[in-house]
Amino acid sequence: MINANRLDAGFLKYQSEYEQAAIDVLRSGWYVLGKQVESFEKEFADYVHSKYCVGLDNGLNALKLAFRALGIGEGDEVIVQANTYIASVMGVSMNRATPVMVETDEYFGIDPEAVEKAITDKTKAVLVVHLYGHTCRMDAITDICKRHNLKLVEDCAQSHGSTFDGQISGTFGDIGCFSFYPTKNLGAFGDAGAIVTDDEELAKKIRILRNYGSQKRYYNEVVGENSRLDEMQAALLRVKLSHMDELNEERAEIAKRYNEGIKNPLITLPPVSDRVKCVWHQYVIRCDRRDELAEYLKDKGIGTIIHYPIPPHLSQAYEYLGYKKGDFPLTEKYADTVLSIPIFNGLTREDQDMIIDTINNYR
Ligand SMILES: *Cc1c(COP(=O)(O)O)cnc(C)c1O
Repeated sequence: MINANRLDAGFLKYQSEYEQAAIDVLRSGWYVLGKQVESFEKEFADYVHSKYCVGLDNGLNALKLAFRALGIGEGDEVIVQANTYIASVMGVSMNRATPVMVETDEYFGIDPEAVEKAITDKTKAVLVVHLYGHTCRMDAITDICKRHNLKLVEDCAQSHGSTFDGQISGTFGDIGCFSFYPTKNLGAFGDAGAIVTDDEELAKKIRILRNYGSQKRYYNEVVGENSRLDEMQAALLRVKLSHMDELNEERAEIAKRYNEGIKNPLITLPPVSDRVKCVWHQYVIRCDRRDELAEYLKDKGIGTIIHYPIPPHLSQAYEYLGYKKGDFPLTEKYADTVLSIPIFNGLTREDQDMIIDTINNYR
């Protein structure tokens, strides 16, 4: 059986480095917010070419704190693409701001024309999601945000290292939000996240908010939260980050083999813009008979996942926003036809070949 994902395969690649880092933390006597977190923040800021990085406990809280630090809350609207993972939308609504969904484009990114049409006098920000590792059309988006004086937040949970016109995702707007959940391209061994920004004030605000609203112990400036990153995850992330280019390169090679090898008229391959370096968080094919294809692959020993079967505007959680089926035809069509086939660090060439052959034999 080839699983849809295998996290241990990524671990085994650099096993001794991870184990040494873990032992060092265990023996250090310091476990939450410390030298490892500080070093990781510096190294990750360097990696994305950003001035500041603040380590956090997960990606959802990175989004939540980003909007909170930007002062976005009740009565404010934030435009977000309808085809995203629901956590993106929660980062907005947890601040009591109103998520305003818009249609996706052919690359699964936010559609800039749809953004422009959705702007009202309540709109305060745009949240773009570089879904599956493919950067959104950032030239058009940054232009819209400038013209309408809107804040721009990037959900980079799936795009560590992706670029648009050579610029790395997370650095186009006010704040870039990252998740290091174990399945992500830069995955920890537990929950972790971070924000990056070039704005010193925003970085400082989020640094204070993550630790009960205090810079100095027992002096609380605001009602903060506990969104701290721990030393163990930071130390393990530093190991992985040092191999990040190699890890993304391995995913790109698998994607290239799929792009060249999969030839089946029933299947649409994932489109990539020539202005984008995609980091292939997922390899998402489309098929009208998607559920049947998934069943067929399962019978042949190949695991797949649907990212995502229910778009946020149709989920029970967001019923109160009043959307209905048919509001976003392309998003809904994708939800009914997308299928993610295995792509992960450590997926063997034999398994890749078997996946290609099996998909090509589907009738
Ligand atoms: C994983 C993910 C998140 C949430 O990150 P967590 O660390 O799981 O909280 C947010 N947005 C997107 C697009 C994601 O894929």
